[in-house]
Amino acid sequence: MGFSLAREDAQEPGGRLDINEAQEDRVSCTRAISRRAKLIASGWWSMDTPNPVTTPLAADFSRSERLFPKLTPAQLARIAAHGRRRATTRGEVLIEVGDRIVPCFVVVSGEIQVLQVSGGTETVIVSHGPGSVSGEANLISGRPSVARLRISEPGEVLELSRDQLLALVQTDAELSEILMRAFILRRVELIARDVGGVVVIGSTYNAGTLRIREFLTRNGHPFHFVDLDRDADAQELLDRFDVSLADVPVLICGGETVLRNPSNAQIADCLGFNENVDQTRVNDLVVVGAGPAGLAAAVYGASEGLNVLVLESNVPGGQAGSSSRIENYLGFPTGISGLELTSRAYAQALKFGARVIVAKGATRLACDGQRYTVEIDGGPKVPARTVIIATGAAYRKPALENLSMFEGAGVYYGATPMEAQLCLGEEVVVVGGGNSAGQAAVFLAQTTRRVHVLVRGDGLGDTMSRYLIRRIEETPSIVVRTRTQIVGLEGSGRLERIRWRDDRTGDVEAHDIGHVFMMTGAVPNTRWLDGCIALDGKGFVKTGPDLSAEELSAARWPPGRPPYLLETNRPGIFAVGDVRGGNVKRVASAVGEGSIAVAFVHQVLRP
Ligand SMILES: Cc1cc2nc3c(=O)[nH]c(=O)nc-3n(C[C@H](O)[C@H](O)[C@H](O)COP(=O)(O)OP(=O)(O)OC[C@H]3O[C@@H](n4cnc5c(N)ncnc54)[C@H](O)[C@@H]3O)c2cc1C
Repeated sequence: MGFSLAREDAQEPGGRLDINEAQEDRVSCTRAISRRAKLIASGWWSMDTPNPVTTPLAADFSRSERLFPKLTPAQLARIAAHGRRRATTRGEVLIEVGDRIVPCFVVVSGEIQVLQVSGGTETVIVSHGPGSVSGEANLISGRPSVARLRISEPGEVLELSRDQLLALVQTDAELSEILMRAFILRRVELIARDVGGVVVIGSTYNAGTLRIREFLTRNGHPFHFVDLDRDADAQELLDRFDVSLADVPVLICGGETVLRNPSNAQIADCLGFNENVDQTRVNDLVVVGAGPAGLAAAVYGASEGLNVLVLESNVPGGQAGSSSRIENYLGFPTGISGLELTSRAYAQALKFGARVIVAKGATRLACDGQRYTVEIDGGPKVPARTVIIATGAAYRKPALENLSMFEGAGVYYGATPMEAQLCLGEEVVVVGGGNSAGQAAVFLAQTTRRVHVLVRGDGLGDTMSRYLIRRIEETPSIVVRTRTQIVGLEGSGRLERIRWRDDRTGDVEAHDIGHVFMMTGAVPNTRWLDGCIALDGKGFVKTGPDLSAEELSAARWPPGRPPYLLETNRPGIFAVGDVRGGNVKRVASAVGEGSIAVAFVHQVLRP
């Protein structure tokens, strides 16, 4: 198989960049670093992976072999059992950019070219010869194609529908490993090269821009960002699409549709994220929330043959997805970014056939009829034989009157590489004394000048793990300010100054600091359950032995058996992870509960 990886560099007009030259001179160091940060932020790529932008493919045979594996005759024979063999003709377009139904092609003879299409110009991304397989991560996720596939040499291919491909990777461990790895690595290449037909125009210091960039990044969708504060040509682009400054951030979707400050749901609709998800069939199991708990339930449910639908109001990953580095999750001695961990779990759930809807949350659980239904944001009512509530918790917001003005423009609720890029070399404040605050402080200390940790209590000992306290003590640029709280935020357009008060003396100090990370705990996402599910005094879901006889009789609990361990006051509805009263707020317990709940789901579904 012969391949060449090339791209048209959007920032260098007319520049065709061969990946082998990237190391030499065409890609500046700064741009390579920012791409690397983008990839790490996307969760598809780890800190330890060689940089695809600066690593010459020719010099790294093992990586190129993993990206473009050449299958053996025995492997091809196994694939042939799942697909159909057919002839191809020169110039035949197999897949067009934006196609919603995307099959997978294995080249038996001839050649397929994968083309990036931009402004009417085609650039060859790669050519697949005999033994090579087309496709990337969208084959697993069921999302539209971001490239065109055309036959450059006629011959024969094996064609597999997405369902046939999923059946193959679920049953053939060797091919599953080869194909899943290749698809994910290819998506990494597409992200690095902004192949995706999406342009985001906005300002680094604008909350809407940060939200959109995070949404696309955490969904692993490639995009090109035009920063209005730095790009002199941006105005021309805005004029071309008849967009005024008041409309930013703007997202150009598929090179045509212009969305002005779109919601995440509008972006998901435009990019067809949910289009191939059948929302109407009766589900064995509906999982609400795709944090670690919901993803674990989806992986175990789907892999054990249940028909599983997952609803996620934002992006898969939950709170864990906003963690810079999780060091206490079993099996990762050097730690793993929360996004990387949850991106893998998401891919795993899709691989086993779970259907995942993003950017559409559950708005109501109807539990008064014969069958449960979950109502979703602007969507149909989803029927469910069983439900797992995994909606976790949302960041608690301190009572500061103008807080919302600065959200995303100096005030952040997560400390990932994306936020870290916004405050390189500057002074920052982390508010909170828990583990998430400790992690954020240690992570930000690597790239900022000084980190002030503001804690209401007398110290960190009661609220933070010992290993984090030690790291903080060993990092000279972190200053812990006990019995201190933030009392004011100031700035025009973006945060410029903050005021904090020392509760011992009552003294208030003002500091020219433009970045505050709020890590002040979380409240349960249970408003959508109103009236249907028993909650405790703090709004967490009550389960199993915590339910009183009165709560069970009020819900007309049928006689015969008490609720299972993670079951709510409604038979067949379970709660797992941070949303559950009494849960230990950790990734491991969320994953454990999500997995265990599936065993109880089987018990309920058993005739
Ligand atoms: C910054 C940070 C660092 C952390 N670090 C660690 C660590 O190092 N180690 C550790 O063990 N734990 C850590 N934690 C805690 C850990 O992340 C949580 O315990 C874990 O994520 C809980 O998982 P969950 O699935 O129960 O809920 P969540 O992670 O909260 O996920 C819930 C999901 O449900 C979605 N959702 C909410 N409402 C709806 C709705 N109505 N419809 C559909 N979807 C909905 C949300 O968008 C979210 O994606 C950290 C937490 C934070 C915030």
